Parts: sequence; C-alpha cells; structure tokens
Amino acid sequence: AEKTSLHWNKAACRFCGTGCSVHVATKDGRVVATHGDIKSEVNRGLNCVKGYFLSKILYGEDRLTQPLLRMSNGKYDKNGEFTPVSWEQAFTVMADKFKQALKNKGPTSVGMFGSGQWTVWEGYAAVKLMKAGFRSNNIEPNARHCMASAVAGFMRTFGIDEPMGCYDDLEHADAFVLWGSNMAEMHPILWTRLTDRRLSYPHVKVAVLSTYEHRCFELADIPVIFTPQTDLAILNFIAHYIISNDKINHNFVNKHVNFRLGNQDIGYGLRPEHPLQKNAEFADNPGGSKPITIDEYADFVSKYTADYVSKLSGVSVDKLNQLAELYADPKIKVTSFWTMGFNQHTRGVWCNNLIYNIHLLTGKISSPGNSPFSLTGQPSACGTAREVGTFCHRLPADMVVKNPEHRATAEKIWSIPNNIIPEKPGFHAVEHNRMLKDSVINAYWIQVNNNLQAAANLNQEGYPGYRNPDNFIVVSDAYPTVTAQAADLILPTAMWIEKEGAYGNAERRTQFWHQLVKAPDDAKSDLWQLVEFSKYFTTDEVWPADILDKNPNFKNKTLFDVLFKNGHVDQYSLKDIAEGYDNDESQAFGFYLQKGLFEEYATFGRGHGHDLASFEAYHETRGLRWPVVDGKETKWRYREGFDPYVKPGQDIYFYGKPDGRAIIFALPYEPPAESPDNEYDLWLCTGRVLEHWHSGSMTQRVPELFMAFPDAVVYMHPEDARSRSLRRGDAVKVVSRRGAIQSRIETRGRNKPPKGLVFVPWFDASQLINKVTLDATDPISKQTDFKKCAVKVVKV
Ligand code: SF4
Repeated sequence: AEKTSLHWNKAACRFCGTGCSVHVATKDGRVVATHGDIKSEVNRGLNCVKGYFLSKILYGEDRLTQPLLRMSNGKYDKNGEFTPVSWEQAFTVMADKFKQALKNKGPTSVGMFGSGQWTVWEGYAAVKLMKAGFRSNNIEPNARHCMASAVAGFMRTFGIDEPMGCYDDLEHADAFVLWGSNMAEMHPILWTRLTDRRLSYPHVKVAVLSTYEHRCFELADIPVIFTPQTDLAILNFIAHYIISNDKINHNFVNKHVNFRLGNQDIGYGLRPEHPLQKNAEFADNPGGSKPITIDEYADFVSKYTADYVSKLSGVSVDKLNQLAELYADPKIKVTSFWTMGFNQHTRGVWCNNLIYNIHLLTGKISSPGNSPFSLTGQPSACGTAREVGTFCHRLPADMVVKNPEHRATAEKIWSIPNNIIPEKPGFHAVEHNRMLKDSVINAYWIQVNNNLQAAANLNQEGYPGYRNPDNFIVVSDAYPTVTAQAADLILPTAMWIEKEGAYGNAERRTQFWHQLVKAPDDAKSDLWQLVEFSKYFTTDEVWPADILDKNPNFKNKTLFDVLFKNGHVDQYSLKDIAEGYDNDESQAFGFYLQKGLFEEYATFGRGHGHDLASFEAYHETRGLRWPVVDGKETKWRYREGFDPYVKPGQDIYFYGKPDGRAIIFALPYEPPAESPDNEYDLWLCTGRVLEHWHSGSMTQRVPELFMAFPDAVVYMHPEDARSRSLRRGDAVKVVSRRGAIQSRIETRGRNKPPKGLVFVPWFDASQLINKVTLDATDPISKQTDFKKCAVKVVKV
C-alpha cells in the first residue's frame, strides 16, 4: 500500500440490473481508477462503456453540495429562487409542510417516490418511515415504470417474485429468445456472455423479437419484427403450436401445473374521462380467474393459428414456425429473456404469464439452460424496489399491506403497535402525479430518481402536479435534474461509494460495498436524510391517540426512537464496522445503522424461501444468490438438488403456490390503448441507449459518454423520411395528442425502425419525449406502456 498509496476495493456497478462488480482505486480521498472485477462471476473482469467511466459520475462540475430552498425575502416561497440553507433549516421547513399535510388531510396527503437505485437499507428505511412512521402507503419506486408487470407475472404464475434461473443459463442454453429486450445496449455484459456462447457453439440459435431492428439483430438467427402489441398473439400461437404438434411435456404438466382462464381486469388505467379509456375491448369473464382443463386451454389457444397470427403480427408463417419449434423441440434447452418490451405494455402482466405458459407446457424451466428470465433495468430493482416492499401495495419479502397477517408480521418485526400500517394500498406511480395535480397529495419527497423526465405524459400529469401551489415538493439528488428544478426544496445527496451500500441484481444476487470516499461538502446519503428526518416527528403527532392509549410506552417518542433506535436496528456498535472504512451515516447516529437495518430486514425472509446470508458474508464475497441456506447460494430455484426448499424426491416444487403447482393462464390478444390513425400516423417507441443511464443525469456529465451520444434523435425508416420530404439531420417536431418535442431525423445507425414506426431515446433532458407519451397502464400491474402510442412527425 505504501508503494502505490492506492487502495483497491470492490463495489457493485451503479448502473444496470446486470450487477457487474468493479474494482475501485482510491487515493487521497478520490477515485483514481476503476476496472472490471476479475473475481466477479457476473462480469469476469469486463465492464461496459458506462462501467468503465463509472467513477466520473462523482465529479460533475454541478454536483449539489448544499440544501437549496426556494425563497424570497428570507422566507420559503414557492415562486422564489433556490437559496442555500442549512440542513436544519431545510428539515424544519420540510417537517412543517409534512405536519401541515398530515394534520389537514391525514396520512394519504404525504407521499414518497424512490427507486431501484436506493441501496437495500435506504429502501427499507424509507418503507419504515412512510408505512409505519407516517402511516402512508403512498410510497412507490420508479420500478413501477419498469418491473411491476414482471412482479405481478411472477406472483400470479408462481406465487413468489423473481427469476428461478440465473446467469449460468447463458452457458447452458442451446437457444436464446429475446422478447422486447435490447440486451446489447441495456445489459451489455450479459450480451457479451450470450454472444460468446453463440459464436463458440455453432448449434446455438438466437431469436430476437422486437417492433424495430436494434443491435441484437446483428446476432439473430431468427430475426422477428412484429406489429406493436401482437406479441400477445405470437405467444399464444407458440402454445397452440406446441399442443397441436403433440410436444407438450405431459409428465411435467400433469405433476406441476394447473390451468386457469385468466381474469381480464378492465381498463387502461387512464382517467375515467379519457377518450381512450372507452376504446378498450375485453374478452369475457371480467373480474376473476377460474380453473379450466388442459383441453379447454387447448381450445382457447386454438384460434391463434399461424395464418391468423401472421396476418395480425406481420410476421411470416415460416418465421413463426421456426420460433415455435425452438420451444417445442424437447432436445433444445431454451432461455427466454425480456425487459421493457414486455413489461411496459398495457398487458405486460399477461405477456409475463404467457411466456411462462410456454416454458411450463414444455417443462423447460428451473434447470440449467431452461429459463424464462425477466431482466431488470436498475441495479437494485430486485434487491431494493421489489424485495424490501417499496411498492404502495407491498411489504418486505413479497408480503402485501392488504393482508392482515402480513401487516401483523411486519409490525411484530418492527416492534411497533398493531394496526399502525394502513391496510389500503397507496396511490401507484402514475396516480402520484395525478394526485399531486388534484391536490390530494400535498407533501412529497423524491429520492434517487428523475421522475419528471421519466414518467409518461408529463405535460398534462407531471409538471402541473409539481408546480401546484398547494404542494411542497422535495427532491434529493446529486445533480440539478429536471425533477429537482421543479421542486421547492433540493437536498444534496451522496452517491454510490460515498456511502456503504447493497444492491440486488436480476439473478437474485445481493452485493455489498463499503464507503470508499467522502461525499462533497454537505451532501448526505439518502439513508442519513431519511433517518435524520425521522427525528423531527413524534408519535403523538403522527399516530392515532387510541393506538397510543393502548400502547402508552410509545407515547411522545420520536419516529427515530421507535423506528431506528429500537433495540433491533441499533444493536450493532461502531466497532463492528470493518477497520479502514468510513461510514458517515453510522458515525452520525452512533451505531452501525446499515447492519442493524439489514439484519432486521433479513428476518422477514429467513426460513420463508428468501433467506439472506449474514451481513459479513456479503462484504467478503462478490455477492450470493438467495435463498442462501447454510452458507450455500441457490442457482436454480424450485429444482431438487439446487434449491434447499425442495425435498428429495420432489424433483420440481413450485412452493410459492399452496399445492406446489404453477399456473398456465388462458389469456387473449387485446388491442393497444392507442394506435396510429390518419392524423397521428406513426407508432412511437421510446427506450434507452448504451451510453446513457436512464435520464442521463449522471452519464451526460461524463465527457466521454456525453460526446459518444450527445443528443437524442428520431430514428426513422428512410422511406418514411422521403415520403415526408425529410432528410437525415433535418429538424422535426414529434407531436402527439398530449405534447410535442423538437429533435432531428436519423435514418441510419444502430436502430432501424420498420416503416410506420419511430424510435426516440428518453435520456436527453433537452428533448423530453415523455411530453409526448401516453400514460395508459396495465390494469393489473399499473405499469405504463412507454412502447407504443400514436404520433406524427413534421418538419420544423
Ligand atoms: Fe455491467 Fe450494467 Fe454496469 Fe455495464 S452498466 S458495467 S453491464 S452493471
């Protein structure tokens, strides 16, 4: 150490759900180098271009370093200028606004919006503060825009969230099918592993399905471009093909599967008065699913013939058959990957259910190389957003607020009185903006996301809510994002290795890192902010008198006392912190806060199929995949020999369901919420690009990444451009019924849309494409469909 004076440590990458490990070198309190961690099973020494430049996100010139409050004449003023204040001033004004809202309208008038970029303990602390402290279930992660359909899909089919397989499937599968997943740009390291498998083993096949051609098509043996929304029909065609060619794995199906006619819940999640809400067409049996036989299921999918689906989807019969045969052939091990193409869909839950149908019909599940694999977008969409219960309807470890036993379990583990956690789910993410606009939520805190740029229909639903004079909006961030600039109070936030952290990636791998450098000036971690803010409230101010009368020892305590300094969280001392590491949050509170929160949280899942290892184990390893029992991680869940919850002789056991059987759902094709017409004659699809993380608030501050892709563009088919007298580089307006942006035309490059569709990335704050998008949601998951709406493109 003396020779180089460099200190090398491991950390998880700050960006995507792949969950690569990086090696970080620090010197004199700064990061001076990073490289891919050779010891990581995930990335084996590699990083993608974002990972290589990861450390530069810490050093943007406009890092926020002091709380900023809108003020005029020395006082808070909604229309005032952002003015530096102390943390105490900031929290005093903020607490006053939260207390006013709670007093005037009760717990549903306060809300919080977080993300799958919170560390595990930050998300967990936020859930405790909101659901137990303020007694409000109005907390949502941006994972509602990202993974909510996947969550509902898992829960309906298997009764437990998250994939049964793991990344090792990449080295075992004979075929990969990508459904609405541009892995080459969104999960580049996994794509590297997939490419290695495909190029090293000539028998391996890759099928890529999308509504436009992207980089993954370079490797596709079966390239499939389909008409938006018809993936539902293609999935049903494959099931029909398997059945009609007698390729069902009857032994597997008889033992491990039930069949149900799926419930067709009504509505696109738009405001009731929205004209598109009326256009929805629905099949029979609204309001509940019912058991059916395998023959009834076969009859249900029999209308999805190759000819019918070919006409609907625009995919040739030959290609449909080739695709179906990959799944049907019992000799081929198939791994299906999907991301936002499935999840951001007005029937995203159904898409998830329908892909499970295919893997269950053929028994191609929970064994090496056979996996239906939902990839997550964010670094801790699984580990935090889903697992610790940051959704408005959830509690830790897949429990839900509606269930009285689940609430009682959480209250017991948290050592708080009964009936503190409200039973009604809070408002979901899209409703948050509506409720802000309608003055139903009045005090609102956003951490670690840029929702005003990320949420759909921001002209009509987002911005009016944030700037509503009735509301007080707080944004914690490291940079002055679009969202922060619309706030009333900005709190400067510590990032990544400026704090001790934990993320859970897409393959159930939990990874830890230590604090390696200090945050600049007065920037504080989200965890510190949440816990410190809890000191500004007493139980008498926020909990009902009748509950306190029955539990007098909780009277007149601060929320800090009852939630964080509660005998559980504060049980580990500062001496437990590994030598040589800072831990500013723990130092501030006098106990090992992160360890206490983690161990308390881990009690929810241990013994219940979601066992986490000890706190120390994660600091010593490059992560472990849960359930971790007796120190051993689980690669394939539900499979005897891999999963400790499956007993000898059971072979496969879907223990999330009471009878151990997964469900095949009969679900129909349904048209999209909005389609092109004479005036708005093009489909719009939005998405990300390799170089930028989400809204670009971090990566656009890295010069190399900024220069690699400085501005968003409108990818358009050359003939569509010609027919509108447009040339590459021309300035255009993209216009929908909701709003417009200005951009320029791109007819070449990495994305090649078919005629009739344009693709626009959403990372560019100077071109807010979500002014244009529609906020139609899946009626089950409440996730927005960002992948299809109707627009026109006109020359400026
Ligand atoms: Fe790995 Fe994703 Fe980070 Fe790239 S952005 S290094 S793929 S975790």
